[in-house]
Amino acid sequence: MTGPPDEFDWIDRIRGLTLDDPRALGLRDDAAVLPARQGFDLVISVDAMVEGVHFLPGEHPGTIARRLLRTSLSDLAAKAARPFGYFLTTAWPADRPWAYRDAFIEGLNEDGVLFGVALLGGDTVATPGPLTLSATVLGWAEAGRSVLRNGARADDLVVVCGAIGDGWLGLLAAKGAISDPSDELASHYRTPKPLLTLRNALLAHAHAAIDVSDGFLADLTHLAKASGCVARVRLEELPLSLAAAAWCAAQENEQAARLSLATGGDDYALICAVPPAAFDAFRLACLESGTPVVALGAFSTPKADGKWVEASFRGGPVEDVQGGWRH
Ligand SMILES: [Mg+2]
Repeated sequence: MTGPPDEFDWIDRIRGLTLDDPRALGLRDDAAVLPARQGFDLVISVDAMVEGVHFLPGEHPGTIARRLLRTSLSDLAAKAARPFGYFLTTAWPADRPWAYRDAFIEGLNEDGVLFGVALLGGDTVATPGPLTLSATVLGWAEAGRSVLRNGARADDLVVVCGAIGDGWLGLLAAKGAISDPSDELASHYRTPKPLLTLRNALLAHAHAAIDVSDGFLADLTHLAKASGCVARVRLEELPLSLAAAAWCAAQENEQAARLSLATGGDDYALICAVPPAAFDAFRLACLESGTPVVALGAFSTPKADGKWVEASFRGGPVEDVQGGWRH
């Protein structure tokens, strides 16, 4: 197709992304119609991404599409929901030709098939600004059994599924600021893995969960505050990939290095609250899907000082971590 991309051409091109799901009505109506499902709650999460803010300018359009879907699906992973579809809004700058947009569609198709999520509808507009994208993902959770942020109880363990630090190091690697010979770190940043395979483990054993998008300490604070508990964590036990551990070992100050990894974000690991008696069973259930699990602290009743998270490193307190978390 030649000429400037228009809305109707766009809809024709993305029709395959519906995976023939009848609820999308072939993208030929103004809405999707989702029949209610007895015994299930509909879990919905909305994410938006702006070029230059949430992804680097010049990234491959297929990678941008996959990152959009994966980061959105990570929110459903933390809820122990089973995703089935998504809505997509795209605001395109005029300088993105069909070849670029087709590569974007190909990325969506690849991960739509991989994760079993059908495009159900959305909107597309032109913008004088940067490429701007929004995905709304939908999933089913057994009624009343979604795992939320607010369920942690005193004495639950602070548990991490997956590794911390690869998202932030991956961003540095993608910018060329650190070396990444195997491309492992940059690809973690570009196409993180939503931990959807942990659904049954979470349902069986976790009181609360959150995915790590803002940073381990920031997201742990969100969970602790929502639950009304204080979380105490040992930074020396932060689970690191081999690449992150190698980076850490090369830094002069290990405590500062670990604090950077704990505040960096974009990891899409899960932080969970798990009762001590259930930890072994939870860890085994997660290992079945190849996800490593560590307990690096515990929740307790809140104190009067307003702190929701206290971090230590090899027995010593890490001061004022709370003030330094916002990026
Ligand atoms: Mg999240």
